[in-house]
Amino acid sequence: MSCSEDIKTVKLSNGKTAKVHTHLFINNEFVPGHGPLIETINPVNEEVICSVHSANEADVDAAVKAAHESFKNTWRKVAPSEKGRLLNKLADLMERDIDEIATLDALDNGKAFSVARDVDVTDSIGCFRYFAGWADKIHGKTIDTTFDKMCYTRHEALGVVGAVIPWNYPTMMAVWKFAPALAAGNCIVMKTSEITPLPLYKFAELVKEAGFPAGVVNIITGYGQTTGTALSTHPLVSKMAFTGSTVTGRKIMEASSTSNLKKLQLELGGKSAQIVCADADLKNAAVWACGGIFNNHGQSCNAGSRIIVHESVHDEFLKLFTEEAKKIKLGDPFESDTFQGPQISKGQFDKILGYIDIGQKEGAKIHLGGKRWGTKGYYIEPTIFINCKNNMRIMREEIFGPVVAIGTFKTVDEAIEIANDSEYGLAGGVYTKDLDTAIRVSNEVQAGTVWVNCFDVFDQSTPFGGYKQSGFGKELGKYALHEYTQVKVVKMLINL
Ligand code: NAD
Repeated sequence: MSCSEDIKTVKLSNGKTAKVHTHLFINNEFVPGHGPLIETINPVNEEVICSVHSANEADVDAAVKAAHESFKNTWRKVAPSEKGRLLNKLADLMERDIDEIATLDALDNGKAFSVARDVDVTDSIGCFRYFAGWADKIHGKTIDTTFDKMCYTRHEALGVVGAVIPWNYPTMMAVWKFAPALAAGNCIVMKTSEITPLPLYKFAELVKEAGFPAGVVNIITGYGQTTGTALSTHPLVSKMAFTGSTVTGRKIMEASSTSNLKKLQLELGGKSAQIVCADADLKNAAVWACGGIFNNHGQSCNAGSRIIVHESVHDEFLKLFTEEAKKIKLGDPFESDTFQGPQISKGQFDKILGYIDIGQKEGAKIHLGGKRWGTKGYYIEPTIFINCKNNMRIMREEIFGPVVAIGTFKTVDEAIEIANDSEYGLAGGVYTKDLDTAIRVSNEVQAGTVWVNCFDVFDQSTPFGGYKQSGFGKELGKYALHEYTQVKVVKMLINL
């Protein structure tokens, strides 16, 4: 049930309206939170969309206890096939309400509605279906030891998973955690980003409609330092699944060891390199490399924000890449041809413009863009820096905006060295027609994903996660199930 103060009617930038929940979702009910009210801002026009309730320590405790109770007495006993059915049902409901969910993603985050619908929410639906299929296929093994003993393993759920997500894919980042966690039999308390709290409350409605028992899924919002810390220090939380910055990842790692030793999964930042070799199909490289950095306004952890091009093809590649970048249509998220909306917040907007300034001061040259777009909203032009060296901050630090730094290399060894000269290791890419080069670079680049002749391609069945300071643990694919289960060994002495 939801009380009237919970649901608000809010304005969209296209003149239409949408209904949003502003309360927390605990134990299958929308309930008021007792933390400070948080204003969520529309990045298109910098106006307040509405205020939402946040969770204080007691609210976090209530959510975790609801999840714990549900795990102990209900969800643990639900047949795996029934869990799979519920996940598929949730996918069906998301499909039915896809426009509504995508509208809230676009409203709160500023991403194009068409991208939110056709990428974020469509991928999320596929993710639920993929893990629904796994729900009744999570098995242990029997292991032969000696003649008079029987030994088997069980892949058991962890209990209560605490999840904390960022604002860049408000629905998809959540579903990448919900789907494997629930399929593996866990209950979950999800803290959304305080910057994009709205989309997941629509999803919460569907959780209830699908028939999930109370307490299996709990959704709260609040600031990281308070709500996030209360979750990551809670003794009844068995695991923290986190996506966000490396700085916050470290804090969660520390907090997770205070009251108990939580299992951890950290999906953190990146500074992924795209290597364009002399023999590459340059048109293909330009198209993929352009999407690789400018998709989602550059606000992707895996963004290919460094492009290293063989010096012999630099000018030709730059021409083709610039042509692609110039095709990007900025505009209101609800206009059908918009590809790039505003950056998420004033803070990010200022940070990105700050990096554009730093890049010029360091000696890199702006080849395209470099300015605010329009006069209202947090829009920034797609920006290309050239003459970049790997010691420049724009080549080393995560800008998280539509800014790409392009440099050159002479040998493949040098390209690999530049790509690996980073504290991050989330992803990388190589464009080449030569199979040996493709395999060599893929093997040598220290990153959790390497794309060859493409970039930013995701499937529910393939794992994703970082090396080095981009974190550890895998989302998606069968690998994700290992993150949400623990292995028990049972050994029996048999009286023969
Ligand atoms: P952020 O780290 O500032 O915040 C992420 C989440 O952590 C938010 O919900 C925030 O409230 C919470 N948080 C902040 N401090 C906390 C604390 N002390 N304890 C618990 N929770 C806390 O990141 P952001 O600005 O929201 O997102 C951008 C970052 O996320 C980028 O660095 C990006 O690379 C990363 N990211 C990584 C992946 C990946 O899969 N590797 C995916 C998307 C985004």
